[in-house]
Amino acid sequence: MELANKVAQERRARLAAERLLEQKQAELHAANRKLGLHARALSDEIVVTRAKVQTVEDENQRVKSDLHVANEKVQVAERRLWHSIETIQDGFAFFDDNSRMIAANPAYMSVFDGLELIEPGISYVEILQLATEEGIVDIGDLAPAAWRETMLDRWQSIDPEPTVIRLWSGEYIKLIDQRGHGGDVVSLALNITETIRYEERLKEARARAEAANRAKSSFLANMSHEIRTPMNGIVGMSDLLKDTELTEEQRLYADTIKNSGEALLVIINDVLDYSKIEAEKLVLKPEPFDLERCIHELIMLLQPKARDQGLEILLDYDLFLPTQFIGDPGRMRQVLTNLMGNAVKFTEKGHVLIRVTGMMGEDGSAQVHIAVEDTGIGIPADKVEHVFGEFNQVDDEHNRRFEGTGLGLAISQQLVRLMGGQIWVESELGVGSTFGLQITLPMPDGAAEPAPVAIAGLSRAMIVDGNDANRQLLEKRLNLFGIETVCCADAPEALSLVGPQVDLVLTEHHLNGMDGLELAEALRAAEHEMPVILLSDNIGYAAQDPARPLLHAVLQKPVSRRELCAALAALPVQARSKAPDAQPGADDAAAPGVPARALRVLAAEDNKTNRLVFSKMVAALDIDLTFAENGVEAVALYQSVQPDIVFMDISMPLMDGKEATGHIRDIEKKTGVHVPIVAMTAHAMDGDDTCILAAGLDHYLTKPLRKAAIHERIVEACPMNVRPLVPPVADAG
Ligand code: ADP
Repeated sequence: MELANKVAQERRARLAAERLLEQKQAELHAANRKLGLHARALSDEIVVTRAKVQTVEDENQRVKSDLHVANEKVQVAERRLWHSIETIQDGFAFFDDNSRMIAANPAYMSVFDGLELIEPGISYVEILQLATEEGIVDIGDLAPAAWRETMLDRWQSIDPEPTVIRLWSGEYIKLIDQRGHGGDVVSLALNITETIRYEERLKEARARAEAANRAKSSFLANMSHEIRTPMNGIVGMSDLLKDTELTEEQRLYADTIKNSGEALLVIINDVLDYSKIEAEKLVLKPEPFDLERCIHELIMLLQPKARDQGLEILLDYDLFLPTQFIGDPGRMRQVLTNLMGNAVKFTEKGHVLIRVTGMMGEDGSAQVHIAVEDTGIGIPADKVEHVFGEFNQVDDEHNRRFEGTGLGLAISQQLVRLMGGQIWVESELGVGSTFGLQITLPMPDGAAEPAPVAIAGLSRAMIVDGNDANRQLLEKRLNLFGIETVCCADAPEALSLVGPQVDLVLTEHHLNGMDGLELAEALRAAEHEMPVILLSDNIGYAAQDPARPLLHAVLQKPVSRRELCAALAALPVQARSKAPDAQPGADDAAAPGVPARALRVLAAEDNKTNRLVFSKMVAALDIDLTFAENGVEAVALYQSVQPDIVFMDISMPLMDGKEATGHIRDIEKKTGVHVPIVAMTAHAMDGDDTCILAAGLDHYLTKPLRKAAIHERIVEACPMNVRPLVPPVADAG
């Protein structure tokens, strides 16, 4: 049993051992498998890591190679840059933040002409030192230390201004220095010798051109003066010759001499003006002026010619446009004279109409349009564009017979442009032309016209004028004052229509048959006592007429709205219902009785012919005329003669007119009188009038002198207590 137990025990022990073994084997197997799996995972990881390492290695390799290429490129670029810097003709250098040279190109170095000390490492101060010590720069009158100080100050500034230095060789170097952030400086030295030389040549050429231009201007001024002086003799004498008894043939010759003389003067003026405009020497002189009056005056001047041609000149001035503007009246007149003169010249029948309209701006100026319309020969369509060109005339069978230089419109266009305006033309061959201009003109304070007001006590006026245009204009104006009008062409018609319903007669001086003064006499004889106002183109003569006291006022034609308004407003209310007293007004020189003396005129003129011309021009006037032959005599005679007016030539020997005027004005400071002094000059250059007026003269007449202009000045200066200028027996017409 025991054995069986033992065997059973052993079997059980063997079975347990076998089970343990099996279990351990299973565990070992499991451990083995795990190990195998781990080993495989590790091996996979190694493969990945290896791949990564390979990639990094490749990357490194590529970077290395790129770096190499980049390095090579930088080297090439640097080589090229330096090569360029070395090749350029201008100097180039770098300095470090201690102002020590890092490098410089050969052009920079060449300035120092092989000086060994100039090399990288040298300081800017030392460079300046060497530049002065070695005489490399031309420092002019400056002391070397002062020059170096200026240069160093500049160098040390944050942003040095470019400067130009001159080398001993005469070359000019422009230094441009640029300071970088780190304090480094790039220095550029440009050789600008050629530019400077070119500028010098230009300056010289300009100076030469200006000198030539000045010479030309003064030549023109002299030429104009020299031509005008004898022209005064020619035109003046031929004018006087025409007043003598002549055969028809002689009259023709005298006319031709006068007209040719005047034509020559126009040409001289045109050429002078044109050369001034061309040299940009023409300066406008703005001042307040009356545009309407200016146009009226021009119409007056052109009227005789127009009348000869049977033409009417009409003016339609916008009733709501002011007449006072600021502009250059002389140049304005010149442009309008050209346009209106052409219109009269190129029109054989019909009319010339000047239309003035305008628009008021908000800035105290007005945009003014002036159109000069004619019914003349017109301009062919293909020539219209050319009429404003220099020396351009429409050359065809219609207009070959008209004289002129062809400069007028070219000058007008330039003048209008100078005034900031425009000029144009519209024309139809055989029908007529319209020349228009538009300019903006400032207005003086208070220029806007007061609204027309009715004049109390005046409800109906009679207008007596043979000229339709004048009648219409007067009618328009009187209507504006609320006055009804009755229009008559001559005195007989007026006398037949006049009656108690007429409060005022406005009559033209020159009428067909009976004139305006005779009409006044006839009205008074018929016991019509309404006021009579005479419109005359020569108030000087009208004032001397015995019938003058019958008139309420004599107005110089053309009459501006302002003057007419003043004359109407000045009519005393009671005078509107009865005849005026024979009391002369302020402008009346014709006081009854014998006045004490004749008006005294002193004329200073060195040229004998011109003295003769002057004396003939005033021969019709009852005046005391004394001549001085130079300025010294003029001053002496001024004191002994005590003239009422002085006519003063400007260019005279011993003492010129301006200086003589200065002395006279000095004398007057003590006496307190002021005698009008009128310059007579052959100068016609711009600025002459200004400097003449600045010298103390009151008026300015250009030679050749005109009788009417001299008379006008004398009439103006005529005091109350002198004899009438025209003896009462003289014909006032
Ligand atoms: P000028 O009158 O001295 O010849 P302008 O320059 O004033 O010179 O005029 C140039 C030309 O323009 C004139 O010659 C004429 O042919 C033409 N012209 C100017 N104004 C008129 C006009 N109103 N009617 C016809 N032609 C004109």
